[in-house]
Amino acid sequence: MHEISLVQGLFQQLAELARQNNMTKVVTVTMEIGPLSGVVEDSFRFGFDILSKEDELLRDAELIINSTSVIYRCTSCNTAHESGNQRPDCCTQCGDSFLIAEGGDELILQKVEME
Ligand SMILES: [Zn+2]
Repeated sequence: MHEISLVQGLFQQLAELARQNNMTKVVTVTMEIGPLSGVVEDSFRFGFDILSKEDELLRDAELIINSTSVIYRCTSCNTAHESGNQRPDCCTQCGDSFLIAEGGDELILQKVEME
């Protein structure tokens, strides 16, 4: 489960941020995770819960996950199809089946509240 190491990396980043800003406690952490990022949200949340219990800085932190969506763009007529992680079979406008995924691979630390 590689989410654990991702959470560890996140915590290092947060510890550094807290040190720079003289903060002692993280209140909320907002992450943006896309369906193509390869990160399983539940696993990430699980890793966060486990690791934050042992972490002075993050013990009471709340994790907020914003899921992003993927845009599948038709290469023929440029129509954008917004979708979760389900690639459409073909373009709804022209029926072409060659669609290119845009976005959806985000794994971004969007916002942190500290005190
Ligand atoms: Zn099309």
